[in-house]
Order: sequence, then structure tokens, then C-alpha cells
Amino acid sequence: MPWPMKRQERSADERKQLSGGTKFPAESTEPSSDIIMSASKKTVRETGKVYLVGAGPGDPGLITLRGKFLLERAEVVVYDYLANKKLLQHAPSTAQLVYVGKKGGGLHAYTQEGINKLLVEHGKAGKIVVRLKGGDPFIFGRGAEEIEELVAAGIPFEVVPGVTSATAAATYAGIPITHRGYTASVAFITGHEDPTKKESNIRWDKLATGAGTLVIFMGIKNLPIIMAKLIENGRDPKTPVAVVRWASTPEQHSVEGTLETITEVVREAGIKPPALVVVGEVVKLRKTIDWYEKRPLFGKRIVVTRTREQASELVALLEEHGADCLEFSTINIEPVDDYQVLDRELAQISSCGWLLFTSLNAVTYFFRRLNHLGLDARALAGVRIAVVGKATGDELVKYGIKVDLIPEKFTGEGLAEALISQGVKGSRILLPRAVKARDVLPEMLTGAGAEVVIAPVYRNVPPGGRTDLLREKLEEKKIDMVTFTSSSTVTNFLTMVDAASEEELHRMLDDVSMAAIGPITAKTIEESGLRVDVQPESYTIPDMVDAIVDHYRRAKNMD
Ligand code: SAH
Repeated sequence: MPWPMKRQERSADERKQLSGGTKFPAESTEPSSDIIMSASKKTVRETGKVYLVGAGPGDPGLITLRGKFLLERAEVVVYDYLANKKLLQHAPSTAQLVYVGKKGGGLHAYTQEGINKLLVEHGKAGKIVVRLKGGDPFIFGRGAEEIEELVAAGIPFEVVPGVTSATAAATYAGIPITHRGYTASVAFITGHEDPTKKESNIRWDKLATGAGTLVIFMGIKNLPIIMAKLIENGRDPKTPVAVVRWASTPEQHSVEGTLETITEVVREAGIKPPALVVVGEVVKLRKTIDWYEKRPLFGKRIVVTRTREQASELVALLEEHGADCLEFSTINIEPVDDYQVLDRELAQISSCGWLLFTSLNAVTYFFRRLNHLGLDARALAGVRIAVVGKATGDELVKYGIKVDLIPEKFTGEGLAEALISQGVKGSRILLPRAVKARDVLPEMLTGAGAEVVIAPVYRNVPPGGRTDLLREKLEEKKIDMVTFTSSSTVTNFLTMVDAASEEELHRMLDDVSMAAIGPITAKTIEESGLRVDVQPESYTIPDMVDAIVDHYRRAKNMD
């Protein structure tokens, strides 16, 4: 146990220094303190530490809290093929990311020896290393081999278990690997070993009937031989078998058969590694329990076009229903160069009858400026505040502001009508908004006798980059739907698609469904010559997601 010993060797002064001046609990075994101190006091760290972390089976939500905690503090992350890349988002942007992908049967980017050496080198260089491995590091993960090398080199380590694909793949295919009505035992087996070799480590004769459920890792290549071995050794050829590929990811694909038929089923379905094989009566429960692939948006690839900061709610809700979301930021929001109008209005804010917010960004940039001027919400005392929709109203609550008016219809027109019905003649109305925006609201209000002051507080700019990726996905017909939450997302999306002609536009987008949050966005889509397939009655993100779910439910029922 090299790490605790090292710690005890430290002098009292050194320990004090390590713990940032406060008394260091020498007897404490709380491991998280190691890493915090190691990370913050680089100068006193002699060797680093290597954390072997189970990444879980694929779904990035299935990493442990401990695993995430360590990733957030990693200086080097060494990850492989089966660890979901999305988990890397938890690592600091300064962390060095090393892909050592090992793909079953394919190219090995690194040999096992190479990986071992890499871990030792980084450990010796004093780094906090997270070695991220698919599933659980100690289940057919060669984790122990890596640890042995670390021990030999005297490098401190820790192992964080993960959710193994053995249980996760079965669970996500609707199979509990045990059930007291069916079996009381499970065996985890590697199918990687050639079952015909003389000196096999696997006692197929005992396993065939010795365990109720058999979970076979890496068994696709040898599937015909393994199935034959089981039958040959006495297992009923009618025993149900399921094969699950890329479990717990949007790519999940599962099929079912029996010992006799599964090889053919797998071949026909084109299932390739990585896949897990589950053999046993428990597979029958799938009929009742199958849930993951049954979610309404499962298998649907949906493009989310919003600003990077705003995409998360929509993505989270769509993913909750099983969608595979591709985020393309079609808009970047930037502050304006000149806040003269807003500054002038803020200096005489008491003459203002209404302050209107028509977007989240307007709220954000308005308050940024207010704070920049050394002011806060108190400066707005006495001014009535109206918003275009609920989300904008909720945003204002964060600044301590309760909105006076939200229209029933969440559009500029809706807001104008609601205000006009209260009487706006002669009122001064301040409208902080984007440089480029629709003029309906100010025009309607001016028409009703109000004095509207437009204060530009932010602007939309189409971002560069990633355009190729979007075009590539569209060309490959890998996209089922695109969601739009404002007219600018439509225009910027079309800029990114960059179709050379109307014909090309239709070729790329005609079989892609379009979802618009509201009528204005829908109109912009239609004006571009495209069809709107989904539009919620109420113009909010949750309503839009419900409408998308309905759209696919209806399509399914029609099949
Ligand atoms: N340590 C890993 C297993 C590594 S061996 C764990 O605990 O899950 C690699 C094999 O695991 C693959 O060939 C496949 O059989 C299985 N596997 C890993 N992730 C999988 C997934 N998401 N879906 C299906 N099988 C998976």
C-alpha cells in the first residue's frame, strides 16, 4: 500500500503545508483530500497518483459520483474505446487527454504494455491521472495488469468500480440477469478465447448447465462455436439468448433468439462488437420489461440549434425521451459595442412606464450592463416589467424580479396586445433587445400611442466551424429532425448548410422533419421553402418536446 505509507513518512510541517495551514488529520483515510491537496500544492508532490476509474457501460449518466469527482480534478485522462467520450467534458479544459483505444479485432492504438508504460510515466511525473475504462475496470478490463505495473513502479493508485456492461447491457435490453423464478446463479464469461483450443481456461462442460444465466463478453466473433459448445455440453438448444450491442447508448441494438438460432439472427441484423450475449430463461422477461428501446424518441437523431448556453434544457428533455441529440450552435451571442441608448435610459429610468424583455439574452445582457454601471435590480423600482414568455419571466426571478405581465400568447404580437389592452398611450416603453429583431412589437405599441425606445444590448452572430460536420451528417441521411427555437436559428442553420441551389437544399433536407417553437419561427422555415412538421400550441421548450414526442408516436401508430 504505497500511498498511505508515503503519507505517514511526511513530517508534521510538510503535512501542515499540504493541508493549507490547518491541522492535517494524519489518521484520516478520506481519500478525496489527497487529490485536492495534490492538485493545489504542485510543488510538494513527488509522485502523482493513478485512479483506475470505471466509466460505466456507455450512458454518461452511469459513471459513479466518485469517478466524476476524480475526472473533474484530473491532469491526464487516459481513456479507451468503450468509455463514452462525453465523460471527458468533466475533465478540466487544461487536462491532457490520451486516447488509447482498443477496438475488438481492429487496430490497437496502444498495446497493453504501452498503456502500462504511459500510466507509470505520468505517475512518475507527479500527475493526477484518471485511467478511464469502459464498464468496471476489474471485469475483463485488464485493470489488474495496469495496477501491477503501478505497484512495481511504486506509484500510488486507487480503483473506482464502474457499472459493468454485464448488468447494464442486460438491464437496458429489459433483462434482469437474476430472477428468483428463473435462476439463482450467473456466470460472467469471456468469449474472446478460442473455445476449440485444447488448453481452454473455460470449462464449458461445467458452465453449460452449471449456471442459470450466462453473460458472455466479447463473444460475437466466436458466437457459433460458443453456442455449439453449450448445446454439446447439455444446455437445451431452445434456451433463449439475447445479444445487445452498444448498450445504454443511442446506438443500442438488441436481438433475441435461442442457442440454435441466435447466430443467424445476429448475422442477419448485422450485429458487430461490442456486444454482450445473455443466455438463460431470464431473457424471456424482456417481453415485459424491455424499456430503453421503447422510449418514444429512441433511435431518433435530432439536431438542436440554439446558442451554446441555451441548448441544455432542450437537449436534456429530448434525451429523456431517448433521442440522440446533435448540438449545433447556430448562433453566438455577443455584447454590442455601444450601450449609449441603454445607459441614457437607465439614467432617467423613473420616466419609463414599462420595461419589456422578449428573450433570455436580453435579460442577461441588460443586467450585465446594469451591474457594470454599479447598479442592480433596485434601480428598476417603480418600473413595470413585462416579458414575452414564461422562460424569460423565470429568468428574471433570478435577478429578484417578479414580472408584472406575461401575455397569454407568447409572441411579440401577444405581448403588444396585452399591453395595449392596459392602455399605453403616452407611456415611455424601454425595449432592450438584439440589434436585429422583428419590429412588430415596437410598431404596434407606437401605433397605439406609446413612445418606444429600443436599446440594443446584444447581437446574434453565426458561429464559424463545424459546418462540415453538419453537412456530412445531412448528406449521410443521419438526421431525423432539426429543432428551431427562433427565426435566427433558421437563417443561421441555412447559412451553415450552405446549399448551392434550391435543389440541393431539398435533396439534403426534404426527408428531415422540422420542428419550430412558434409561428414566427415556422414562418421563417416555410419562407425558406421547407416544410414545418412540428409546432407546439404553446411556445415553450417543454411544449415543443411534447409535440415532438406526439409527432413520432403518431408516425409509429401509422406504421
Ligand atoms: N470492463 C468492461 C468489459 C470490457 S471487455 C465492463 O465491465 O463492461 C469488452 C466487452 O464488454 C465488449 O466486447 C462487449 O462484450 C462488452 N461491452 C462493453 N460495453 C458494452 C456495451 N455498451 N454494450 C454491449 N457490450 C458491451
